Order: sequence, then C-alpha cells, then structure tokens
Amino acid sequence: MNKIFVNQVGFLKDSAKRAVVNFKAPDFKVIDAQGKAVYEGALSHFGTDDISGEDTFIADFSSVTKEGTYKIKAGDTESVSFTIGDKSYDQLKKDICKCFYYLRCGAALDREHAGVYYHEPCHLSKATVYGEDTEPVDVSGGWHDAGDFGRYSTAGAVAVAHLLYGVRFFPNLLDIEFDIPKEKCDKGLFPDILSEVKVELDFLMKMQRENGSVWHKVTTFNHADFIMPEDDKNELFLFNVSSLATGDIAAVFALAYTVYKDYDKAYADTLLDKALKAYQWLNENPDELLFKNAEGSNTGEYGESEDISNRFWAACSLYEATSDDRYYQDAVKLSERLISFDKAAVKKGYQGDVFTCLGWAEVAGLGGFSLILKNADNVLTASIKESFVSEAKRLCSNASKNGFNLCMDKKDFIWGSNMELLKYLMVLTVSNVIATEKEFEDAITSGIDYLLGCNSMDVSYVTGNGEKAFKNPHLRPTAVDDIEEPWPGLVSGGPNVGLHDPKASELPKNLPAMKCYLDDVECYSLNEITIYWNSPLVFVMGGLQ
Ligand SMILES: [Zn+2]
Repeated sequence: MNKIFVNQVGFLKDSAKRAVVNFKAPDFKVIDAQGKAVYEGALSHFGTDDISGEDTFIADFSSVTKEGTYKIKAGDTESVSFTIGDKSYDQLKKDICKCFYYLRCGAALDREHAGVYYHEPCHLSKATVYGEDTEPVDVSGGWHDAGDFGRYSTAGAVAVAHLLYGVRFFPNLLDIEFDIPKEKCDKGLFPDILSEVKVELDFLMKMQRENGSVWHKVTTFNHADFIMPEDDKNELFLFNVSSLATGDIAAVFALAYTVYKDYDKAYADTLLDKALKAYQWLNENPDELLFKNAEGSNTGEYGESEDISNRFWAACSLYEATSDDRYYQDAVKLSERLISFDKAAVKKGYQGDVFTCLGWAEVAGLGGFSLILKNADNVLTASIKESFVSEAKRLCSNASKNGFNLCMDKKDFIWGSNMELLKYLMVLTVSNVIATEKEFEDAITSGIDYLLGCNSMDVSYVTGNGEKAFKNPHLRPTAVDDIEEPWPGLVSGGPNVGLHDPKASELPKNLPAMKCYLDDVECYSLNEITIYWNSPLVFVMGGLQ
C-alpha cells in the first residue's frame, strides 16, 4: 500500500525535516492547509533495509521554515497533517510530563486537575515486610510504575534521574507548566516538574530503612486484575532490600539535592543525609545483594546480574554533589571493575560501552552524566566524555544504514524498544552538548520523527499526539475507565521482535523488526507504558531547544 510516513506532530523551524515514501513517484510537494504547494522537490531513493520492510524514498523538505500546518503529497497520496514552528512540541511536552501526575499512587487524583481521569485514593494501607515479623510500614505515595500498580525503587530512581538530569542539562524543562496542584517551597512555588518529581522522591524516602538500606519494591503478591487502582485492595508487601536499590537511591537523592537546594534548603539537606546513609550502608555491605522475586510472586522483578554500575552511579553522584574526593576515588575503582565486567559482556556478544548505559538495570551512564556536569579536569571524566561521543558516532553510523535515518540496529527491537531508542537519543543529546555535531542533531531529529509517526507502522507512539497515535496501552486504569481515549502523552513500549505475549504471538512470523507491533491492550510485550519510557523523552525534548 502506498504510504507517506512522517512525524505526525511536527518539526521545529530550523530542524532537519524528512518524510519517508514507500513508492516511486517523480516528485513530492509540501502543501499548506489551503492545499497550496509551498515546496516541490525530488524524492531520493534509499532502497530497502533490514529493519523497516519498505523500499524507501526520502522527501527532504528542511528548507521549509514558515510556521504553519502542512501535509506531504506524492502522486495521489497524502500524508497526515503536521506543523512547522517553534511551538510544535509545546503540547507534547506538557502531555509527557503530566503522565507522571496521572500515575500518582496514594491520594486521589482530583477532578480539577485530572478531569475525567480522576481516581479515588489507592494503596494507602501499610505494607507487610515480607518474611519478617515486624510492624507494617507506611510507604504510600509515588507513581504506579507501568501498566500495573507496583512501585519499584530502582525503576523509580531511574525515571526521577532522567527528569532531574534533564533539568540540570536543560533548565528550560523548569518552564513547562502542566496543570498539577502547586506546591510551596522557600522561593514561593516549585516549578511543576520539581513538584511532580517530589511526589516520587517522598515515596522513595519511605522505602529506606533505618539502617540506610532500601527495599527493592512494594507490590501486592501478584499483579492485580484489570481494575481501577482504588479497587486493588490486596495486601501490600515490602520485598527484600537490595544493594541495587540502595545504590540507586544514594545516587538519585544526591542528584536531587543538587537540584532542590535552590528551592527548599531543608528538603535538599534531608535528601543528602539519606543519600549519605545509603552510601554508608553500601560501604558496610560490600557484597552484592541482588534481587529475586519471592516464590509464587509475579510482580515485576527488576533483577540485575551485578550491582557495580549502581555503586558507580552512587559514587559519581555523591562526588558531584559534595566535591569530596573520596567519592571520586571510589568511582575510579568501580570504573575498573565495570570495564572488566564490560569486557566479559562483550565476549558473550553484547555490544556497547557500559559507560553510556542509561536504563533501569545498567546505570553507569547516569554516573557519567554526574561527571560530565561536574566537568572536573580528571581522567575518568575525560574517558566518560569519549565514551559518549564514540557511542554517538556508532549510532549515527547505524542511522545511515536505513531509510528512516534511525539510529537503531535490528537487535535493538527488543521488549521496550522505544526505550532503547530514547536512551540512544539521550546519548546523542549529551554528546551534542560535549561536542556539537550536525549528524548528532539529525539523528536526534530522525529518532523523534520515528517515535511520532515516521515509521513503517505509520503510528505515533505517544498517545494523543498525532492523527494516528496509538490508543490501547496495556495500562489498567485506561483499559477499564470506560473512557475511549487514554490520557495523552503516554509512550508505548513499541515493536519487539520477540512477540512475548499470547496476542502478539498471533502476528505473522518473520515480520521486519519495525513492524513487530500491535496497538492492543492485551499486548503487554508491545504496548505497555512505564514511567521510565516517558522520562527519557522529557530529557530529549529538553535538549531540542
Ligand atoms: Zn496506587
């Protein structure tokens, strides 16, 4: 079928602008809202690639910079409409930030701010400490993690980190207003993004034990049925502490200190105290304490194979927050252990540099962000910068191999492939801060284009943003609330060649990687949402100024 794939939201005035056409035509036009051609150009034939399953022709209309709403036309085929202008992403940015508000756990979402998506208070009962005969603990608050109602320390810390490193690198994120209840601070009112992040930080503080260690997660024993959060009344359990969670919490509280100290000194000091307490526990407990689900429990495990990157992130973040050289020395030692670990991983077929990993498991890249922000003249910082720039160059080389200029490889289309993409766009964004390159900027733009509709599924992977945005996330509240449209701004997990759920496995075999997707609520391996799939998009949008 003849199709024109294009970013369905729009383009900034001065950015590169491309659409991908899957049929041969003599030329293409950019037409305005009145149907008048404002630009005509030739299509350039790229050919087929191994990820999209399309014979691709590129329509480059970067020279169109006049603000407006447009479509691409080739032959008799027209694309969906999109905008060009400085404000093209303003609504998207509000939507992707407000998703965290809609995912709040604990107090009710009120009708004033949540509209039809309000819900009653949820998960307020105290949590039983699994395997211990101690008093139940109040760990209410924070954000539901994903399509389920679990709350997980490492996942929460990483989502917060994406948002707060975003604020550190790109203070323009502080200006986004997304209609949430305002919270007071020393300076008057917190910027919205800090107000929302504080909700998760307050919860994460409750996840820390007296001795400094951190419970890995709080969930019911098994996933709830598809019901509203307030109807999930099963017993909550705090499962074991892990050195993974304790490392991440030390890191993210130290990072939060650097941001909140300018708004609320007492709150920031509490965060730093708790970060130091977690770090002290790590020092007193040098052996890794990993995490496995209790037998019979099926909520998210968030297991990791080692805790070196978590400890590394903590050391780097505390170094950045306190300037104490002791933490730098720790970071250097841990970096040596990480390099040995990475070499072993590379031997097993894993490609990549461990120092640019930014996901919920491998977090050394977040430590790298702290060092880049500190920008001290030392060996480790220089080598981290090199890692980022060389990874960015590898990503640009990937992008040159497909018609969508997408920085992904076939092997990246795993469960949550859109997060693989967004992590790559974070690497490119920070590399562009270290050493500005046009090819980095183009790869970032093309990555955003892919996410917002320039892909061979012809779908925008952000709800409510784009004429053909996905509508059926695997997300309990939106699945059962009897409201047709989910709330806007949710990022889908995206194509996954593994097709890991029963509904997905009904898709034809041997589909091209980019087409291993179905917009279906049952497809938890293709169409779930999570806090840490939204957070990297906020970061990347901050860098697009
Ligand atoms: Zn809840």
